[in-house]
Amino acid sequence: MDKLIKLSQVIFPELTDEDTVESLEALFPERGLKEGAKVTRMAPSPTGSMHIGNLYGALADERIAHTATDDGVFILRIEDTDDKREVPGAVDLIIKYLGAFGIEFDEGATADGDSGAYGPYRQRSRAKIYHIVARKLILEGRAYPCFCTEEELAAIHAAQEENKENFGYYGKWAKYRDFDIDEAIAKIENGESYVLRFKSLGDPSKKVDFKDQIKGKLSFPENDQDFVLLKSDGIPTYHFAHVVDDHFMRTTDVVRGEEWLSTLPWHVELWRACGFKMPRFCHTAQVMKLDEETGTKRKMSKRKDPECTLGFYFEKGYPAKSTIEYLMTLLNSNYEQWRSANKEASYKEFPFKASNMGNSGAMFDLAKFNDVSKNIISQMTADEVYEGVSTWAKENDEDFYKILSADPEYAKSYFAIGRGGKKPRKDFSCWSEVKDFVSYYYDELFKIEEAFPENVSAEDKRAILKDYAEIYSAEDDNNAWFEKIKTICDKYGYTSDMKAYKENPDAFKGSITDVSNVIRVAVTGRNNSPDLCTVMKVLGSERVNKRILAAAE
Ligand code: GLU
Repeated sequence: MDKLIKLSQVIFPELTDEDTVESLEALFPERGLKEGAKVTRMAPSPTGSMHIGNLYGALADERIAHTATDDGVFILRIEDTDDKREVPGAVDLIIKYLGAFGIEFDEGATADGDSGAYGPYRQRSRAKIYHIVARKLILEGRAYPCFCTEEELAAIHAAQEENKENFGYYGKWAKYRDFDIDEAIAKIENGESYVLRFKSLGDPSKKVDFKDQIKGKLSFPENDQDFVLLKSDGIPTYHFAHVVDDHFMRTTDVVRGEEWLSTLPWHVELWRACGFKMPRFCHTAQVMKLDEETGTKRKMSKRKDPECTLGFYFEKGYPAKSTIEYLMTLLNSNYEQWRSANKEASYKEFPFKASNMGNSGAMFDLAKFNDVSKNIISQMTADEVYEGVSTWAKENDEDFYKILSADPEYAKSYFAIGRGGKKPRKDFSCWSEVKDFVSYYYDELFKIEEAFPENVSAEDKRAILKDYAEIYSAEDDNNAWFEKIKTICDKYGYTSDMKAYKENPDAFKGSITDVSNVIRVAVTGRNNSPDLCTVMKVLGSERVNKRILAAAE
């Protein structure tokens, strides 16, 4: 019997003659999608933590699949080959988190099993598929077992260091590359541990030309590494799983982080050795930020940057729309321009293109993100704001939730202030900031937080408040409100003529701003608030009177 056949049988005793690559081709046929339709996939490891880079990548995948045609496919594939790092429930969390940002998959792993005809979608359940392809590579002399121990590999590394040669398992260093097949069979039958390695035929003095959808034309030396395809437990490495899965899931566009560029030469050789047609590749830039201490650009870090983990956005209560909107501006440089011409449109209407993705690091700027979010919230209706705040508070601030939900109409009436016009108020960027902004609407949260104007004496303050308590009416419109304040100004030597005040401030005790701020601090506890007359109307005369009189004591 052919020695290679014998070798493949001892390695994969469970495979039969029917288990061929051709049978896989038939089982997972070309998808027959419309011209231009794209198939993308997200391939996270279920390690339980998701970061902004994952969301950035997922959004790019999702947009690429769904922008061009209506039958593109976005797959969720779970890379669970490293069971030591796996966290129970991580798959549910991935789906839940991405779902909360409005990112939905068409196919793949779901909370209850798999959905789709190209599965299974969890790599550990795909062992047989990898083994079938690996057997073909063995039979064609492109894969072989390697029995090197950790110590032997460390010794090779040390020798390469000493000789100043490239690191790795290749060429003359590849001890088992030309090992006697009968001996290899004997070792396996003897129960010795081994991995399956790729047999590279590459020549690094030759170049490979490659076109990446984001990076453009690339050129790199051919691979010569005999990298591992299957680990000693028969589970594939990322490299092998990537080629097998993306081929048999019929991925058209592999969108993945640019950290994979360094092993791209491996993948190119492996795609060719397997006889599979390569998909298009989009290597996405890393999400970066400006380091506050050093002022230099660096990768976002889960340890240093709270905004790196997705949990941050939920805890702070940023609307999903804000995060997506901001990421869209990072993903496609022409998005902002499109947005200013299409203010009302959904981001899904934007003609997303992989080729418009930046090829150097995407700079995440928390201050800019907050501005984007403030803008998004400012365009919401009072009902939407109420919904957002109360949903967040229910999970994160029970006391505030109770207060809010005791009278939703009251909350909506103050959320309505300054909304809807051409220049809506931009108070908060996330729901966790709201309580501070609106606390004075509730007696149980109200307190005088800021000082009364300095240039108003305690005596004047009391007199102003007492007078005002007498003339104030909840029915006052803006004009009536203003006229009343003016009367008080005149009485106590504060001017309502701002021009005169600016020209000669010493001629007056102060201006109408001071007088209205006395009332503002008494009623809201602070120096800044939305239009005071409107705020007082919402508060109602009972609260207003009580606070004015209390401050006049
Ligand atoms: N599990 C890999 C990662 O998280 C997936 C890379 C890919 O998309 O191919 O980096």
